[in-house]
Amino acid sequence: MSGRSPEIAGIAEKVRSGERIQTDEARWLWFNATDDQMRTLSSTVRARFHPRDRCTYLIMRIVNYTNVCVAQCDYCAFYRLPGQDGGYVLSRDAVFEKLDELLQLGGDLAGFNGGFNPHLPLNYYCDLFAAIRERYGERLEFYALTIAEFMYLADHAKLDYLEAAQRFQNSGVRWITGGGSEILTEDFRRRHSKFKYTVTEYFEAQRALVDAGLNTTATMVIGFDESIDERLEHLERTRQFQDETGGLASFLCWTYKPYFTQLGGIEVGTGEYLRHLALSRIYLDNISRIRTSVLTQNERALEGLLYGADDFDLPIEDEVTQKAGATINRDFQPILDYARRLGFQPEYRHVARGHAVEPVAVS
Ligand code: SF4
Repeated sequence: MSGRSPEIAGIAEKVRSGERIQTDEARWLWFNATDDQMRTLSSTVRARFHPRDRCTYLIMRIVNYTNVCVAQCDYCAFYRLPGQDGGYVLSRDAVFEKLDELLQLGGDLAGFNGGFNPHLPLNYYCDLFAAIRERYGERLEFYALTIAEFMYLADHAKLDYLEAAQRFQNSGVRWITGGGSEILTEDFRRRHSKFKYTVTEYFEAQRALVDAGLNTTATMVIGFDESIDERLEHLERTRQFQDETGGLASFLCWTYKPYFTQLGGIEVGTGEYLRHLALSRIYLDNISRIRTSVLTQNERALEGLLYGADDFDLPIEDEVTQKAGATINRDFQPILDYARRLGFQPEYRHVARGHAVEPVAVS
């Protein structure tokens, strides 16, 4: 490793020997380590979980079933307030059409993500998810909600989180992701998203999901106005939750898209994103799957495989990020070719238990 200093030598030795790094060491790496050093250290941790030359991918679609939302996050370009022009709720047929198309394109994972719509009660969701499970069986898997929506629905129905989790589970739901987390510090929530949840509530809800036996994930979004210490606090809370529960199947970080939002701002560059991915892989030594975001970084997200990531989505739709400037290319071949040029053999990671359709969009 070039440019060695006593600090980097000490941290590198810890990482090599499998010893956990502390938050102040992560901060030191962020400000002082070279990109090469971040690559090397994150690849060392990655190799503990995955073969060096392999990566996996999913073909998936986000179904944005409603854009009506009362949370009013200032970084969101997607929502409409109740009664405002442009608000919508997808019909069940429209949802099925989107899922049919996903299957035709070879995908087998849908993620549902919408707003906090006060006109849609918990039963609306339970009925929808039960109908999806009945229609598609094991050919398709779905991430039913993000935790943020789950918390809103539970509160709205006056159920505690465990009861709400069990209601969804009884409707055929297996996954509720950690989406909607952005930056998990109370100060960030107050600055940008004060009606959504508190961080304490977020982890209470996630613990209830794990206790109910549902699958869940960790997510993070960088590039708002958060400080490095806020990013580290997010990672620290995530690592601690995983120590306590072991319930996080993966960690996915993506970058904030600032276009057409009230908050605005300048997009984080790929270089900074890759360094953050590396830091996440090194710090989150208890999460095996670290995912890189093609949705927000396009083809260059694949360079994340050199910075600790091992898995990525090939998305065919996500209106929330597309409204704020994300672009989606359904021709997946160049993206997979790029992974190969970087030295990785990509393998389709089917999520549905009974997948039968091979991808047509991928040769
Ligand atoms: S980010 Fe989600 S919760 Fe916040 S305003 Fe947008 S749709 Fe609503």
